[in-house]
Amino acid sequence: MENPNIEKRLVNYIDGEWVLPVKNDYTPVRNPATGKTITSVPLSGEKDVLAAVTAAKKAQKEWALVPAPQRAELLFRVGSLMKERKEKLASILTMENGKVIEEARGEVQEGIDMAYYMAGEGRRLFGQTTPSELKNKFAMSTRAPVGVVGIITPWNFPIAIATWKSFPAIVAGNSVIWKPATETPLMAYELAKIFEEAGLPAGVVNVVFGSGAEVGEAMIDHDDIRVISFTGSNDTGRVIASKCGMKLKKVSLEMGGKNAVIVMDDADLSLAVEGILWSAFGTSGQRCTACSRVIVHEDVKEELTERLLLAMEQLTIGNGLDESVKVGPIINEKALEKVDRYVHIGRQEGATLLAGGYVLNEDKYSSGHYYAPTLFTDVRPDMRIAKEEIFGPVVSLIEVSSLEEAIDVNNNVTFGLSSSIFTQNINQVFTAQRDLDTGIVYVNAGTTGAEIHLPFGGTKGTGNGHRDSGLAALDVFTEWRSIYVDFSGRLQRAQIDTE
Ligand code: NAD
Repeated sequence: MENPNIEKRLVNYIDGEWVLPVKNDYTPVRNPATGKTITSVPLSGEKDVLAAVTAAKKAQKEWALVPAPQRAELLFRVGSLMKERKEKLASILTMENGKVIEEARGEVQEGIDMAYYMAGEGRRLFGQTTPSELKNKFAMSTRAPVGVVGIITPWNFPIAIATWKSFPAIVAGNSVIWKPATETPLMAYELAKIFEEAGLPAGVVNVVFGSGAEVGEAMIDHDDIRVISFTGSNDTGRVIASKCGMKLKKVSLEMGGKNAVIVMDDADLSLAVEGILWSAFGTSGQRCTACSRVIVHEDVKEELTERLLLAMEQLTIGNGLDESVKVGPIINEKALEKVDRYVHIGRQEGATLLAGGYVLNEDKYSSGHYYAPTLFTDVRPDMRIAKEEIFGPVVSLIEVSSLEEAIDVNNNVTFGLSSSIFTQNINQVFTAQRDLDTGIVYVNAGTTGAEIHLPFGGTKGTGNGHRDSGLAALDVFTEWRSIYVDFSGRLQRAQIDTE
């Protein structure tokens, strides 16, 4: 066991109690930097989900009656406890996920920001008041909670994404059943402890650990879970969407990306290199918004390539707990193999490998899963490495000769999460922010760096029209209710008695 302060075996958190899973089935959680076992996570089943639903249903009825400003105060307390424990949370996050400690701190901060932001919603949760078309009649709309919500989260942002989903759900008066990824259960465990300590009533948040096939599917199947909010891969998202579709269940999907940085001929190349490095190799490229394509103007391609290669040589790779390390490991063996497979595909397709392209297996890397930061050039937009999500530290350079062509290349993929442009030309800036078809657009910054008070999500194959975080998140976890109050003392028929 790597850290004596971490429990050897985790248990579920249901109805305010720490409970053993019904089946005595566990799987180890390994530190991707060292390969060592950190803890074991339950592989719960349908019965655990049923217990969570019973608790969540009961709790939600009471919770919805608590005035929203009071619900918000508890959320504010959650944020304060997260702030107190930021350093501890960040180091556990690095241990289970591998991202470097600086990024782990940033991710925890994102959760803290979300708590304070959503706590503010307790005194807003605005609806609308509007005139009625009839005399002596009042009309308004309010946000009503949907009831019990199910959230299913991935391993790559195990705490931030959970806060984007659970905090708006909680402040809006819902109860939550959360299934975290089995690779990174400790963030869920720590956050559940914080919910308990903050005084959240029993059953308002329940954490059920387990696989997607068992716990995830049991959540989707249960009629009393009225919303599924999912973040993860497209393959899983499609399965969830079709199952929810058959049940007419509301479903919010945030999925993969094939994000690009555009570098125009007038760009500040030093800044562009910094932006590419941070967004392509941060979290070892395992971000949904990671830059995996650089669409570069032909006039600056050579210089950008040279500078990028030099900068890549400076990247320090290793265990993310070491403050000097910039690139951590890949989450597990399977993911490492997938990255390597794509590099082989790229070579077979005729792309030129300029750097990296191999698994790091020197002694110091041998117990973890590390991949060398990789750069391809001469990549054509129709190659698989330019179209499919690799989810690793692999970047493809694609040459273009105009802004129009750059935008075309950017948009001509099935994903639509994030894009960026480096240019000094204001006309190009405004053309790009209008014509790039992604849910997020950055100007003179890389493809990562979302702030929690703006909507987060993408178009086309990245999502299904909903957004996480920002005010838009409330739309997933509330139903609009339109209310008409007639104080005329007689029956007034809309559209008829308007004279
Ligand atoms: P994944 O789809 O394998 O798993 C995500 C979650 O879904 C996990 O909790 C998993 O257990 C669960 N799951 C798996 N099969 C299921 C099923 N049949 N029914 C219900 N639940 C099921 O994804 P991952 O590998 O954990 O995460 C990486 C992916 O997530 C990448 O594609 C990345 O781009 C995407 N992602 C998207 C965003 C975004 O906001 N757009 C953010 C982060 C990650």
